[in-house]
Amino acid sequence: MARLDGHLDMSDSQEKSKVNWLWPSDPIDGSLTDVVDGISLLRLPLPIRLNHINAYLIEDDDGLVVVDTGFNSANLRELWHSVLDGRDLGPNPKIICTHYHPDHFGLVGYLVKTFGFHLLMAQTERIIAGFLSTAADEPYSDNVDEFYRRHGMSADNRAQHRQRGNTFSQSIHSMPADYTRLRDGDQLQFGGRSFEVITASGHTPEQVCLHCQEHQLLLSADHILPRITPNTSVFPYNAGANPLGEFLEDFNKFAHIDDHCLALPGHDRPFRGVKSRIGELVAHHEARLDEVLSWCQEGPRTACELAPLMFHRDLDLHQQMFAVGEIIAHLVLLEHRGELQRHTTDGVWSFSAT
Ligand SMILES: [Zn+2]
Repeated sequence: MARLDGHLDMSDSQEKSKVNWLWPSDPIDGSLTDVVDGISLLRLPLPIRLNHINAYLIEDDDGLVVVDTGFNSANLRELWHSVLDGRDLGPNPKIICTHYHPDHFGLVGYLVKTFGFHLLMAQTERIIAGFLSTAADEPYSDNVDEFYRRHGMSADNRAQHRQRGNTFSQSIHSMPADYTRLRDGDQLQFGGRSFEVITASGHTPEQVCLHCQEHQLLLSADHILPRITPNTSVFPYNAGANPLGEFLEDFNKFAHIDDHCLALPGHDRPFRGVKSRIGELVAHHEARLDEVLSWCQEGPRTACELAPLMFHRDLDLHQQMFAVGEIIAHLVLLEHRGELQRHTTDGVWSFSAT
């Protein structure tokens, strides 16, 4: 089953990056690796191109704090048992889920039910997880079909997407009934450290990052990844949004964090160099925006017409969804900046330079 990994970028490449790694090589899958005193990284293997996700375990007298969980799969459930069975989790163990994507949210429900964790999450992320996990295949696919029709996808291609049904609900275990809402600016005390919640839009609408100024730590989730460019797609669920514009804008919330700060990302290894990495991410997208604009200077293009021009390889349906979504995000931002105009022909959108 193809899964939503959420990280196919325009270039889909592991870019060159000037970040300073905490470790020279990747930690071992499935084992806990100390990052700093009281915080360890658990690298969870994934059966997709992006082959792992990082969960973090934070020791706290009130109860263990787990950050993110991995897909709902038998081997990851087993892995969590090997880590948590027989361990004193404390009186109030918690899960912080950074965002709704299944590689982060997938096993939240299972861990809540099995080990008594309490979920903390941003409201928008919780709402999206809730409706995607409960949407029946047919209305879900109707929405997907109409969305891609407007962006110029052929009827045959849309029929293939329709057949996939609701891939999100297939990748998560269950929705916990209860949770505590995290908001931008909240202060959380864990293990003698004070973390400020910073929510960032773009990869998802309200992704939670945690910053400890005193100890120079940033759990950067998927907003700031050291090598991969986080996907900032427009999907059917956020049609009409400007996620790339918000992604770039929300880097302002991290402007006070300097390169000494140790970043603990959702994927890849902990690193220093947040400020430099943000610069690389901005430069990457500006170059992509220029590329999209230059294609649209030749005449009106739909997002689906641009996909083969910008991705020079075959894309499976899953990858196509991310590729088209990423292109739409660039088109929309250029439209917001007044550099592209939108045309509607038979209900299909195309974009040309102004
Ligand atoms: Zn992720």
